[in-house]
Amino acid sequence: MTKSWNAWLGEMRKAPVIALVEHIRKRMIKAITERRQSCLKWPTDVPAFINKKLNIMLKFGRNYHVIPTSDALYEVETGQESYIVNLDEHTCSCGLWQIRGLPCKYEMPCIAHIRATYKKYVALCFLKDAYLRCYAGIIHPLADKSKWPHVEADEILPPIVQRPPGRPKTVEEWRLMNHQHIEEGSKYVVHTIGVLVTI
Ligand SMILES: [Zn+2]
Repeated sequence: MTKSWNAWLGEMRKAPVIALVEHIRKRMIKAITERRQSCLKWPTDVPAFINKKLNIMLKFGRNYHVIPTSDALYEVETGQESYIVNLDEHTCSCGLWQIRGLPCKYEMPCIAHIRATYKKYVALCFLKDAYLRCYAGIIHPLADKSKWPHVEADEILPPIVQRPPGRPKTVEEWRLMNHQHIEEGSKYVVHTIGVLVTI
């Protein structure tokens, strides 16, 4: 998780805290806006990959024989086996519906049999409404630092870095430990004895 977080931040993880927080804020704004806008373009009530799964299930279930025993209860015969489906309780004797929240190949023919829409039988978390609710909040725009109100308080300085035991493993660690500036674009490695050497 730390690795993916660092990769997401890229070079900005070495930036001062305000620049870093600003970078995170802007990326969050972009991500939230893009996701909300892409969701509004969905042609169905569920994401495309869920719609594809449902269509596959419907295709599988087309040849099954559906026997309604009440408005909600069905017996689905595949030829070799039979399964019990309860549309009201969202359960199927194969167990898949209860586990993943999506109708399986035995429910889909039952739903088709009553000419109902699948939306009622899909777990709420997969629906467009739920997705839009996740991204309904906004991060408010912020003017640049020069427009921020002045606060009377002591200046917060970075902590004093103590040199840890052992040799630095990366050039960046070496720079921090030795408080040295390294020319941009220069090629260095940390030697096994802990000194910086040009490559
Ligand atoms: Zn099932």
